[in-house]
Order: sequence, then structure tokens, then C-alpha cells
Amino acid sequence: MMSARNFPKRMFLPSVLLAALIIIPFSAPLITAEDPIKIAVRYRLAAPDLQHWLGRDEFGRDRLARVLHGGQVSLTVAFVATTIACIIGTFFGLIGAYFRGPSEFITSRLSDIVLCFPPILLALLVVTLFGPGAGTLVAVLSVLYFPTFARITFSEALRVTSLDFVEASRALGTPSRRIVLGTILPNIAGPLSVQYSLTAAAAITIESGLSFLGLGVVPPAPSWGQMIRGARQFMNQDPLGIMIPCAALVLTIYAINFFCDRLRDTLDPKGASGSGMDEVSKPLALADAPAIKDPDVVAVINKLRLETARFGTSAAVIEDVSLTLRANQCTALVGESGSGKSLSSLALMGLLPGAIRQASGTLQLRRKTGEVVDLGFLDARTLEDIRGNDIAMIFQEPMTSLNPIHKISDQMIEAIQAHRPMSKSDARAHAVQLLKRVGMNDAEQRIDSYPDQMSGGMRQRVMIGMALSCEPRLLIADEPTTALDVTIQAEIIQLLQTLRQDQGTGLSLLFISHNLGVVADIADRVAVMYSGQIVEEGPADQILRDPHHPYTRALIESMPSSHEGLHSAGGDRLPAISGTPPLPSARPSGCTFRDRCPIAVHACAEIRPALYPSADGGRAVRCLRAPEAPAGLMNHQTEAA
Ligand code: SF4
Repeated sequence: MMSARNFPKRMFLPSVLLAALIIIPFSAPLITAEDPIKIAVRYRLAAPDLQHWLGRDEFGRDRLARVLHGGQVSLTVAFVATTIACIIGTFFGLIGAYFRGPSEFITSRLSDIVLCFPPILLALLVVTLFGPGAGTLVAVLSVLYFPTFARITFSEALRVTSLDFVEASRALGTPSRRIVLGTILPNIAGPLSVQYSLTAAAAITIESGLSFLGLGVVPPAPSWGQMIRGARQFMNQDPLGIMIPCAALVLTIYAINFFCDRLRDTLDPKGASGSGMDEVSKPLALADAPAIKDPDVVAVINKLRLETARFGTSAAVIEDVSLTLRANQCTALVGESGSGKSLSSLALMGLLPGAIRQASGTLQLRRKTGEVVDLGFLDARTLEDIRGNDIAMIFQEPMTSLNPIHKISDQMIEAIQAHRPMSKSDARAHAVQLLKRVGMNDAEQRIDSYPDQMSGGMRQRVMIGMALSCEPRLLIADEPTTALDVTIQAEIIQLLQTLRQDQGTGLSLLFISHNLGVVADIADRVAVMYSGQIVEEGPADQILRDPHHPYTRALIESMPSSHEGLHSAGGDRLPAISGTPPLPSARPSGCTFRDRCPIAVHACAEIRPALYPSADGGRAVRCLRAPEAPAGLMNHQTEAA
């Protein structure tokens, strides 16, 4: 729960403004004792005086009382209708996106049917059937607006559902209700809150419009629409009459939009808050982190801990992850889905999903300027400048990373101009050079193609070219060859090899993969992740030929076909990895791998292994039975559990 101490400062002003604009109308009896419907014709259009601060309307009714009581009606109708539309639309959007099939069909058809009706026609139909009034208005507005929520929820939930951490939760057997409410919903809260603001503001306007047309609130009950309707005929002789309800409308709509914009920034980790973490648990500041002395070091992840915190409980999804990334070196991050490898890379990009926060640790980056920054402490603008410029990322499926409706040339030029002050023709020439550099034949002609006119391999070359457009120091490749066939896979791996061996660029490559065969071809160092921790790390040839952790050994043994770069250790072999990794909230005591480990002993349930370095410091392993583990740990308990 958000306490007063950790209430975001940015929310203070909009919250106060919105609260004031809501509280003031509902405090009408405390502000004025006048009756909003009491007619006194002989005082019609009377000017403001000490008793009637805003004067009187065309029937001699007190305008202040009417604008306050009218606000109650307008706000109640707008917020109740928007909330109902939001709940219904979000429900349909979520089940449509998560369960697909018939649920998706029902969601889209239902939305289409409602959107077929012109809003005013629908309002007229409902008013004819049920008669005018506040209840009818709520019903009309709820029906009018729920399809918008359903569509936004559907598209956003579809995007989030395809992310690794959701797939990992599914694979781990997390109940659908928990995934939908605890993982997907918080991640789409940003766009939904913006839509809520727009809808609430539009609902106030539509309510006023319908009341103005005589289809809404029934006279003499006050509403802002009714006030505008009444004052319209006397605009010339009494402009105050129309200005007061209009000012109330404008102020209220502005306050709602202001509040929801700030709410979106607060909920969205890519928003102005930078990392999106709350104030409860702060990561180390850069000043507390070890200094990066080696000029070859591009980035250092130090003791990184990422948590999910929902419904009052938090669990570590990434725990004690440390990694050093060097220039002209490829570090591979390997592990099963849900092991935390993609989350670690998203943390480096400052793109953590909304449900995840950086609880501790540092993410240091040496920028091209030589300045060392902590990515967890940067504002949104600096992070934007770093992305693409100092760190770039390529993804698994280039088709979904490229915009299908724009030519490659337009997309590359836009990416280049985002970070470099360059004319369009110079940016185009640079884009052609980049395409040539990544091995694209006929680059001058191909650059004017649309993404769907290219093969998967060519699209991935375009993505790599775009990623390199500003010569980043760190390139993160997240399963970049998984969607490609074997021949193209080899070509892309060869291309990445060439790029990172190019001494002139000083590029550091972080290669994320579950395919150890590919890793053996490209990586200098390997870090194996299991259940949010690095369990083994060291030179690729040593780790792949002589794994010391049973999980690394199991990964190698479970490869579908042998690879010349892979060689499992003898002894306790696993034909495949049995069982599934534990949920972050249900990790066992001691070693997190012990439920799946064939060589576990009693001590494994009692001691949480650290990452033990080898004598020469070249590799490290998180296992009590590894050669690197301190001898004393296993002295008293070595029998199999
Ligand atoms: S610490 Fe124990 S359970 Fe964990 S990997 Fe090593 S032997 Fe297996």
C-alpha cells in the first residue's frame, strides 16, 4: 500500500486540484444555503451581490448553488459511467487477449456492434426506451465507452502476454487469475489510466451535451449542460451565465487529464521516474558502488535485485546478479525461460515492466563520453538518450520490431536522426552504409523496401544495422536467431562475431539465448542463470566443456543434438532437466536447484550457496559440491538427500 511518506511528489499538485474540484461541488450545503431550484422571477439575471456571489439565472435561481449542485450531477454521472465502462471493457479485453479463441471473438464482435451505432442515435434510442434522467445517462455512457476500454485492454494485454515473464509464469503453472490480475493488469495500468481520464472528461462533455439537448438531466434539476442550455438565449445581455458552467467544465476536464497524465508517468517505469521503483526500497547509489577502473569495461551489473511487489507481498525475481561486460567481448546469458535473463537485459535498458522494481544493486554503464552512470538513477530523458546511443538491443522477431507500414529507409533515417543532428539525405547515406556493413546486397535499392518484402534474415540484418546506427558500446541481442532457419542463423551469428571483433568499435555484446550450440559459436564468456540467479559464470570454452554446476551440465545434456563446442562432464549426468524452476515466491530453502538436482545432499537444504570463485578467479559457481566451494561447507553432510 502507498503510504503518505512514499506518495510520489509529482502526484501532489494534480491530486490536490482534482480533489478540490470534486470536493467543492459536494460541499455545496457548506458553501451556500441557497436552494438551486427555487425560482424568484423578479430577480431574473440579477448581478452578483454579497448573498448571491455569482448572481441569478433566467428564473432568478442562485447561480452558485446551481453550478455546485450541477457539478455533483455531472461528476457523478461521468465517473460512475466511466468506471462501469472501464470495468466491463477491461474484463472483456483481458479475457479476450489472454484466452483468445471464442473470448477474443466475443470481445471484438461486441465492441464492433456498439461502435456501429452513432453515439447520439444510441442516446436517442435509450432515452426513448427508458426516458431521460441521470440513470439513463449513466447507462448510455457506459455502453458508449466500454468498447474503447475493451480494445485498448485487448491490444495492450496481447503485447504484455507475449513477454517472457508472462510466458514463464504460465510455464510455471501460475493460475490464470493471478497472471491476469497480478501481472498483466498492472502492466497495462498506464494506458488504461490515460484512457480513463480521456473518457471521464469526454463523459462530462457528452453529459452536458445531452442535457443541453434535453436528453439528459431532467429540469429543474441542475446540471452544467442545463445551465448552458438556459443561459444560451441571454448570452449577449448576461455573458456570465454561460461563462460559469463552461469554466466549471473546462477546469474539471483539465484537472482530470492532469491527474491521469501524472498517474501514467508514475505507474509507467519508462516514464519520468526513470527506473519506476518506489521509495520503499532504494538501490545503491553510484557513489556506493565499486568504481570501474578498467577502461575496457563497458558495463557492470553489481548485486542486482529485482522484485515484484503486488498485493502487499514482494518476491525477488532477480537476486544477487553480478556481471561485467567488456569491450570486444561477447558474454552469453543462458538459461530456461523465466530464469531472469531477459529481465536482466531490460534492467540495463531501463525498460523494466511496471510490475518489477529495482530493489538494490547497481547498473553502471560507461558512456561513449567516458562518463560512468548508474542506469537505475537516471531520469527518463537521459535514459532515452542512452538507448540507441550507448546501448542498443535487437530482438527475436524482427518482423514485429519493424513497423510494417513504413519503408526501411524511413525507419532507419528516423532512428539515426533521433540521436544525431543530420540532414535527411546524410542520414539516408549513413543508413545505406550501415546496411552494407551488415552484409545487405543492393543496399541502395533494398533500403526502399517495406519489411514484408524482405526475408527474415534480411530483416534481422536491418535491425542490427539500426542498432549500430549510433555506434553503441553495448549491444544486447535477445535470442536474435531463434526465429530464423539454421542457414540464416549461422550467417547472423557470423555477422555478430565480425561486428564485436572489430576493434575499432569497442563493442560489447550481451547475447541472450537458451541455445548452447549457438552460444558455443559466439561467446567468450558464459553466465548461466537459474531461478533469478547466476549459478555459473566463466570463460565459454571452460564452462561448456567442463561445467561444474549440475544445472549447466543438465542444460548441455538436454541439447537436442551434439555440438562440437559442447562436452558434458562425466559422472552424474542428466538426460534432460526434470521438473520446473520454482516460482519467485516459493523458492525452497538452501539451494534453489535442490528439488531438481540429482546430487543434492542434506546441506543443500540448509545452506544457500554463494557464487564461489575458482582459485584463479577466472570462473565461479553457485554449488556446495563444486570444486570451487569452500571445503568446510560439506564436512559433516555428504550423503545423498
Ligand atoms: S548446492 Fe546442492 S542442490 Fe544445489 S546444485 Fe549444488 S549439489 Fe545441487
